[in-house]
Amino acid sequence: MGRSIDPEKISKAFATLDAHDYGDVIQCMRCGTCLPTCPTYRTDGIETQSPRGRMAMIRAVIDGRLPASEEFIEHMYHCLDCRNCQSVCPAGVKVGELVLEARHRIEENRPQPRLKRLLLHHLIRDQRGMSRLLTPLRWLQAARVPSLARKYGILKLISEDLEFMEALLPPLPARPLSETIPEEIPARGVVKGRVGFFLGCAMNLIFAEVSRATVDVLSGAGYTLIIPKGQQCCGAPNIAEGERKTCREMAEHNMRLFAERDVDTIVTDCAACGSELKGYRELFRSRSGLAGMSEQFSGKTQDISEFLSAALGPDAVFRPMDEVVCFHDPCHSRHAQKVLRQPRELLRRIPGVVFQDLPDEGQCCGSAGVYNITHRERSMKILEAKVAAIGRTGARRVITSNPGCLMQLQYARMRWRQDWTVSHITEFLREALEGGEIARSTFS
Ligand code: SF4
Ligand code: SF4
Repeated sequence: MGRSIDPEKISKAFATLDAHDYGDVIQCMRCGTCLPTCPTYRTDGIETQSPRGRMAMIRAVIDGRLPASEEFIEHMYHCLDCRNCQSVCPAGVKVGELVLEARHRIEENRPQPRLKRLLLHHLIRDQRGMSRLLTPLRWLQAARVPSLARKYGILKLISEDLEFMEALLPPLPARPLSETIPEEIPARGVVKGRVGFFLGCAMNLIFAEVSRATVDVLSGAGYTLIIPKGQQCCGAPNIAEGERKTCREMAEHNMRLFAERDVDTIVTDCAACGSELKGYRELFRSRSGLAGMSEQFSGKTQDISEFLSAALGPDAVFRPMDEVVCFHDPCHSRHAQKVLRQPRELLRRIPGVVFQDLPDEGQCCGSAGVYNITHRERSMKILEAKVAAIGRTGARRVITSNPGCLMQLQYARMRWRQDWTVSHITEFLREALEGGEIARSTFS
């Protein structure tokens, strides 16, 4: 941490928690149902690393029984915000969301490092700018400099974090998807509707080819795609770091951008973005000027599996795939958006596919935004458990739908020398639909 804080000032900010959130905190009846679901409790086995412990600490700060010390702040950052606890809590306590509320109150009342301010208030708004910043890295990757530096132990000598990040990052595309596709992509075949496509930063800048598969599947399924230029980050990284002002500004920008287009639905192929976009209604809950617009925007937003499970009708022809697959649920789709049934239904429709459920009740993979970098040791323990669960299914392909999970699972495959591969659900669906009405896009 290393930033001087004023615990009294932070504590006062907790004392002003509104009745809605305070009511949620005191709702915890300490039953412990959540304990076995929490990844940090599973790895550390101590109460302070449990959802119940986190609620007790927040309540103690609100009631003035615990100072908002450095130690308390660190505890608030140990949570992955995976929301697995929220899926089982009989009292409906929103632990993950309350931890984010706590971070917001902390960050509003302590000095912010310059680099963090620059990232969360400026760089994050501009995907073109971010892409330009990545240019030197693209050149270095093309010359294999980072991977060779890792192979010969040079990166580790500089920093273990740097070595880890190099291993985590896949090869970057030459250009982000937003710079290679038009604003409107016509439906192929019979037109069924118009959908807005929200391009998440990580999908656009890192997994452009994956989002291209999403475009192919959607247009092949009969939907005209509207992909407004100038989209900004959904704001998920800001919310995870307790920042709301810039997040609200980006949210308002995105809402207006899509409101100007006449779309029935807004689809995203990033689980974290989906959860955030659906959360805009909560973000603007007490802002009368934008409450209606955010309600409409969030109401129109759908996760890609949610949309396709209904949009790919009985006329969709899948070719046989003959593969054993499992689906790793991104926490922000399964626990935050309650999208659980739809990806399974889609995968089970493909002839030859043997679908195996992961025997871990939707545990996080340990990626969780930048958690794998900030809390690498624990993240790796969580990931190791995920690898063991995948191993028990016998799957040869792990399907998922979130950029962080894609990176984390691809890293796991390399680190533990696994013989399964990792795909985003739209990549797999495009493969299964190819040969029918789905063909690869030719935008370049
Ligand atoms: S399951 Fe809910 S009510 Fe029970 S201890 Fe956990 S947070 Fe509290
Ligand atoms: S959100 Fe996840 S990490 Fe945080 S308390 Fe709940 S289960 Fe644990």
